[in-house]
Amino acid sequence: MAIKYVYLFSEGDASMRNLLGGKGANLAEMTGLGMPVPRGFTITTEACTKYYEDGEIINDDIRAETLEYIAKLEGLTGKKFGDANNPLLVSVRSGSRASMPGMMDTILNLGLNDTVVESFAEKTGNPRFAYDSYRRFIQMYSDVVMEVGKEYFNTLIDIMKEKRGITLDTDLTAADLKELAEQFKSEYKAKIGSDFPSDPVDQLFGAIKAVFRSWDNERAIFYRRMNDIPSNWGTAVNVQEMVFGNMGDTSGTGVAFSRNPSTGEKGLYGEFLMNAQGEDVVAGVRTPETIDHLQEQNPAAYAEFVSIVKTLEDHYRDMQDMEFTIEEGKLFMLQTRSGKRTAAAALKIACDLVDEGMIDQKKAVSMIDPKQLDAVLHPQFDPEALKNAAPIGKGLAASPGAACGNVVFTAEDAVIWARDKGCDVILVRLETSPEDIEGMHYSQGILTARGGMTSHAAVVARGMGTCCVSGLGEIKFGAEGKSFELGGNTYREGDFISLDGTTGYVYGEAIKTVPASISGYFERFMNWADEYRTMKVRTNADTPADAAQALKFGAEGIGLCRTEHMFFEADRIAAIREMIVSKTVEQRKTALAKLLPIQRGDFEGIFEVMGSLPVTIRLLDPPLHEFLPTDEGDINALAAEMNMPVSELKAIISSLHEFNPMMGHRGCRLDVTYPEIGEMQTQAIIEAAINVKKRHPEFDLVPEIMVPLIGELKEFQFVKNIITETADRLIAASGIDLKYMVGTMIEIPRAAILADEIAKDAEFFSFGTNDLTQMTFGFSRDDAGNFLDAYYEKKIYENDPFARLDQEGVGKLISTAVKLGQQTRPDIKLGICGEHGGDPSSIEFCFKAGLAYVSCSPFRVPIARLAAAQAALKNS
Ligand code: ADP
Ligand code: MG
Ligand code: MG
Repeated sequence: MAIKYVYLFSEGDASMRNLLGGKGANLAEMTGLGMPVPRGFTITTEACTKYYEDGEIINDDIRAETLEYIAKLEGLTGKKFGDANNPLLVSVRSGSRASMPGMMDTILNLGLNDTVVESFAEKTGNPRFAYDSYRRFIQMYSDVVMEVGKEYFNTLIDIMKEKRGITLDTDLTAADLKELAEQFKSEYKAKIGSDFPSDPVDQLFGAIKAVFRSWDNERAIFYRRMNDIPSNWGTAVNVQEMVFGNMGDTSGTGVAFSRNPSTGEKGLYGEFLMNAQGEDVVAGVRTPETIDHLQEQNPAAYAEFVSIVKTLEDHYRDMQDMEFTIEEGKLFMLQTRSGKRTAAAALKIACDLVDEGMIDQKKAVSMIDPKQLDAVLHPQFDPEALKNAAPIGKGLAASPGAACGNVVFTAEDAVIWARDKGCDVILVRLETSPEDIEGMHYSQGILTARGGMTSHAAVVARGMGTCCVSGLGEIKFGAEGKSFELGGNTYREGDFISLDGTTGYVYGEAIKTVPASISGYFERFMNWADEYRTMKVRTNADTPADAAQALKFGAEGIGLCRTEHMFFEADRIAAIREMIVSKTVEQRKTALAKLLPIQRGDFEGIFEVMGSLPVTIRLLDPPLHEFLPTDEGDINALAAEMNMPVSELKAIISSLHEFNPMMGHRGCRLDVTYPEIGEMQTQAIIEAAINVKKRHPEFDLVPEIMVPLIGELKEFQFVKNIITETADRLIAASGIDLKYMVGTMIEIPRAAILADEIAKDAEFFSFGTNDLTQMTFGFSRDDAGNFLDAYYEKKIYENDPFARLDQEGVGKLISTAVKLGQQTRPDIKLGICGEHGGDPSSIEFCFKAGLAYVSCSPFRVPIARLAAAQAALKNS
């Protein structure tokens, strides 16, 4: 049987999300609930996939079926496509499985042409409305087809307004709008080389094609990569009868949430604009009114809306984000979806819904995206510093949090300043649009002069957990676009400002921030998550302070303590440099003797903080190039310290130069060439443990000593020997009963493949997936950024394998090593300590692979706890 590619709204329901996309499935569900939804149909996501399979053409089957449904829609509405007397006008809307707000383009008022618009004007007795609809259609269609961005057309509108001496778009007359429509059409012809299509069927397929194509535009690809959405999902296309919010003062359009998306507070929250259409509310063309004012303007429609909102929330058992239009007094629902919300709101809503008996704890735990928690873990302004700061302006508190950084004015500059220069940036814009998405992603904060709480900037920032203040109308941009005036001062690119997304205040200076604290809803929610979690969550911490921070976030041990990181501080790096450049064993021993007490002290501090929780300490693994001195002054100082002529030291440094330091003399290779390094480190660890044990006999302290970069059993045995000889001697002499374990990182593919061998002597494995990824792909993590973009573009790889575990390749090595390791040693301890230990989708993989714990940076611990709980719930 032929595949069905098109469904009427009345044929679908919410469960068909994968096929109909989120928007289509929910329009169908609302239709089924008997709500006032304009009629329409959905062309499936499978049709989109087919379109790409067929080489970007809409095949005859899909075309025929679509036309059949247009005929059905004509039957249902009693209107006809292209009929001058009774025209069927439709919107063509995209909608994929996962909501991708603003990612793809919608075309409204399709079906109008020169003839239709004229009789439409006559029949409605409202020429202004008719021509407004027409110019919007041409504008949207041209934008989508030509992909030129909305700017150009907006400029034409601005010129027209200026010519007429008006500021509001509602003051444009029918004649003005007609003239604009002509201008848009000639622009279309100039750019595309043919006339603007007047046949509604041509318009329709042009629009459908554009929606399919938009699935693969740059911002959609970037959004998918950011949100782990596979490119083969495709988007559905919804074709829906138009309803008109731009018919005059009794018509309007709006958006609303069933709870406050910033705070989670229960109650209707939204905005609307009378005599407006589509995106006008969010685009900030005029400042919208808050939803409660609708009650005064149209009490009946308001009451109906309130009741629909309640039905929808009860039905979906989650906060809803809805779009509606009022056409000459009558309410229509155009969309509902689970609303994007800030992390703080998400936590409150999850707890409230449980308390209201709407959902159970399991559902609550599974409804928050772990990555979102990041936002509540982030810094707030230091209350003391804030007291002394005077705001220079106040906008809408669109997305909470505190941000401080250098001002930039374009999305491109945000990327340059943030990614390339490593600065914190605040993106200041008149308003944002989907083209800005990458720059917004790189920004610490976003400030806009235009737009409400549901403007693009606000919605996207909340989704990203980025602080945002919107609609600060007093901002005056400099003509050159590289400065703005606010509160009597001028700010230029690179100047520091601070934003408080919780209050809406903007400060013309850098304000100190302080870490967030965990309590209230967050704590309650995390306790639920912990109930369902089976994997442990440890942290990667190199200092007692990091360890203490991680404990506050719920870490259950240290999975990776990187001993070389202890030496990054200025007063310590000298000692490690000395060790690295030593030519003789004596020189090295002198240097190591300086390092011993420093290391022992750090380990003691960490053991004190961690008590009976497990601590894995990795032996030194410094890629040499990160530690060698390059600065003339540093070199002179080091030479003096070592009683060595500067020239000799320089010769040593250049002899240590490696062509490929990531694959160079590092990790256990250092202990093989210089056993005294492993000896010193073991001594520092064991003595620290003995000292702490003496002070705290109650601690169940079993240090786990981890050897990095092992590729061969004999290599491991050699290093393990150094460790056990040193440790056993010290323990015997101390008279303290101390146990310890010796294990290895699995980060060289050879070790993964030979894990059964290695497990003969290794008591635990910890997957070092940064190096494992690097070595498996054969590309350096320091250099991959330079060429990975080309791989994303060409769809060879969809994700950065350093951020999201490559489950097929690297994952296969992990699963293999788990199996082989357990063959030899059934009770072998297994964990992961690479960056991936904090990435939710990678964590689910670790759960399925059977790891006992994941380890991640302190700020990711709550994220990992939640991801581990969700993995357990999903796979149980
Ligand atoms: P997005 O996914 O970007 O929200 P939508 O497809 O929801 O895009 O549409 C963009 C705007 O057009 C929304 O404000 C929506 O309410 C409005 N709209 C879509 N279809 C219709 C229609 N049939 N009648 C009136 N307005 C519509
Ligand atoms: Mg929408
Ligand atoms: Mg490594």
